[in-house]
Amino acid sequence: MNLADLVRGMLSTRLLYQNDSYLKKSSCDILRVEPDDRKATYVIADQSIFHPKSGGQPSDTGNIVSHGFVFNVKRVMFAGGIVVHWGKNVQGEIGLGPANLEIEWELRYRFMRKHTAAHLFDNCLSETLGRRTEAVDSWVGDDSYVGYRGPCPPMDQLCSAEEMANTSINEEASVTARVIPREEVQNLKCDIPDFDRLPKDRDLRVVTIKGFQGIPCGGTHVNNLKEIGSFKLVSAQPLDGGFKVSFDIAPKMSPAQP
Ligand SMILES: [Zn+2]
Repeated sequence: MNLADLVRGMLSTRLLYQNDSYLKKSSCDILRVEPDDRKATYVIADQSIFHPKSGGQPSDTGNIVSHGFVFNVKRVMFAGGIVVHWGKNVQGEIGLGPANLEIEWELRYRFMRKHTAAHLFDNCLSETLGRRTEAVDSWVGDDSYVGYRGPCPPMDQLCSAEEMANTSINEEASVTARVIPREEVQNLKCDIPDFDRLPKDRDLRVVTIKGFQGIPCGGTHVNNLKEIGSFKLVSAQPLDGGFKVSFDIAPKMSPAQP
């Protein structure tokens, strides 16, 4: 069964990770359970804390548990506004009705920190170059990078952007998200790359690092840059029509206290 058939007729999933990226557990109501042809199962619930693989952020992993079953979520997809959990039963057999969601927090927290670091570097590179950079690709898994359009800047400018990023981290700048009407975001159009590719039928969630321009994003972010710890430029290389910046962050940090 393909994903389009699987989600047909279902209501959009409530994306709990967008309201609170720090949620490690939540309840849910399982609405659909569908076996696939590889002895695995697709699961759809009314709400989810699992972030699907999208926007350069890898899929969350974790468990869905209830009385009588433990279901291991190995992969999470997003289709037509629906979060689709894919995995296998490890105890009992998953069924419809109330259950609890639990994400693998250590992994997710590292994705959140790296994804926020990618936003930060975008902003710092734009400021350093004096023009808005156009990020076209990113990944925040084991090897993290952002791909940009345009010529690769000289290393001294990339190092200036790296230094600016670390200054913002040390200044403990806040990171906030708010949902605003699309028309309001449109007023900022000149500063947002690929604006026309964003959803046209709904309000947009704009994520802002204090001191920088906000940008529409549906991902998970830390609340304060100090949680990134440090930003390290690993390499920069020209690609066809653009360039790729690889980066890393401090190995381990703790969530900031609100
Ligand atoms: Zn984001």
